[in-house]
Order: sequence, then structure tokens, then C-alpha cells
Amino acid sequence: MKLFKVDSGHYYTDGGAMMGVNPWALWGKSEPTDERRRIRLALDLLLIVGQGRVILVDSGIGNRLNEKQEKIYRPSEFILEESLADLGFKAADVTDVILTHLHFDHAGGLISAYPDGERATFPKAQLWIQKTEWEMAKNPDGLNQAAYNYHQQLQPLEDKVKINLVEGDASIAPGVKVKRTGGHSVGSQIVEIEAEGGFYIYPADIIPTLFHLPLAITSAYDVNRKETYLAKQYIHQTLKEKGGKLLFNHDNQHWEYSLI
Ligand SMILES: [Zn+2]
Repeated sequence: MKLFKVDSGHYYTDGGAMMGVNPWALWGKSEPTDERRRIRLALDLLLIVGQGRVILVDSGIGNRLNEKQEKIYRPSEFILEESLADLGFKAADVTDVILTHLHFDHAGGLISAYPDGERATFPKAQLWIQKTEWEMAKNPDGLNQAAYNYHQQLQPLEDKVKINLVEGDASIAPGVKVKRTGGHSVGSQIVEIEAEGGFYIYPADIIPTLFHLPLAITSAYDVNRKETYLAKQYIHQTLKEKGGKLLFNHDNQHWEYSLI
């Protein structure tokens, strides 16, 4: 399997909430905040290609935010399809989309607005989502409500694309596995890849930036810090054993990162 970084744009989110228990004194100098105390977050997706499959991991924030959301999140232009084209792929070539979780900045790109209307960005792709995550997105409780947008981002797809609901760990393709971790959200999953260049983990929001690498540093968005901690412990240990690398989704400076 060959791996590619797909730049889908960036957006801004509250610096304190994103850094969670990590004090501003430690990150404030290297991650400047804007006038509304927000920091820039990359939206770097992973493309896994091989064995007849073109697998995208996460879909970015999309281009269908409403005016209020645009003001809060200051999203860049959604450049996912341009970035795929730079790598020689069209959205219609994508055979699978793995969603690490269904928060709006990861699932928002599944549907795009085009000059002639809105439709599935990846019309031929089957989706891979943890069942518990799907259920929470569909019917969120008070703790989770603000992070999902089921009616806008997911419901229109239900009868149009194949949605595989995974329970726990699963193999998606030869050398591509998902592992349910929970932690950041109830059904968060990480992706493990045996690629041409070695072993990789795309941890998504379990370790979204280099600042979140230490075991106890979690964002304030995480619904279960203990699960995030245990997931990070597993990731650190697995990468050390296999000499593998991390791939960061929200880091403005780093993409591949080796722990050893
Ligand atoms: Zn995120």
C-alpha cells in the first residue's frame, strides 16, 4: 500500500479547548492565536492506494458550513478535490472512506456543494464507521450535541452510498486495519497501515498534533480522557515495537513523525 497526504484545507478553533490540559504558557509562543483566541488547525487527510483500492481516511470540513459556522470556524477554501487531482486521482476514483469519527471537521466533506447542487463527494465509495459513533451522531446526547451534524452531513447519504458499521477492530483491506479506541468521541477509531515504507498509525484526534503526543495531554473536546490515555499508550507502544510512524491530521507543521 502507498500512502499520500491529502491537504483538504484548514480551519480555526478555540486554542484553549484544543490544547485542553496543556497550558498556554507551553504552546502560546509557537501557535499564535487570532483576535478571537483561536488557533489554526490543518485538515490533512490520508490516502491509501493499492490492491485495486483507493482509500481515503476522513473527509475534512467540506464547503457547506452556514454563515454562523463560518464565523465561528473561519474555514479555508475546501481544497480536497484539487489536492486529490494533484496526486492524480478524482473523487470518483475513491473506493472507500474510513471515518475516524463523525465530528463535523472529519465528516463534513462527505457531501459537497457544486455549482449545480449538492451531492456525495465520493459517489462510488463505501464508508467505514464504528457503529457506536454512527448511533451517537444520529442521536447525540447533551454532551455530544455540538460536535455532530447528522441531518446536514450524514442523513442525505444514507440511501445513496454503502455504509459499513464496524464493531471494534476490523480489517478494511490487506494491510489496513481500524481499531476502536473511543476517548475523543464514543466511537473514535484509529487506522493502522502496513505500507510500502513501513508501519504507520493515523490516530486522528487521539493525537491530533505533536503537542498532544504526551500520554496525559488531551483536548477538552475528549469525552473520555481515560480512554484517550489508554489509546495513546497503545499507540506509543505499538509504534516503538514496530519502528513505525505517526501521521498527524491537525498539525500545521508536522505530518510524519517517528517516536524513536
Ligand atoms: Zn478534529
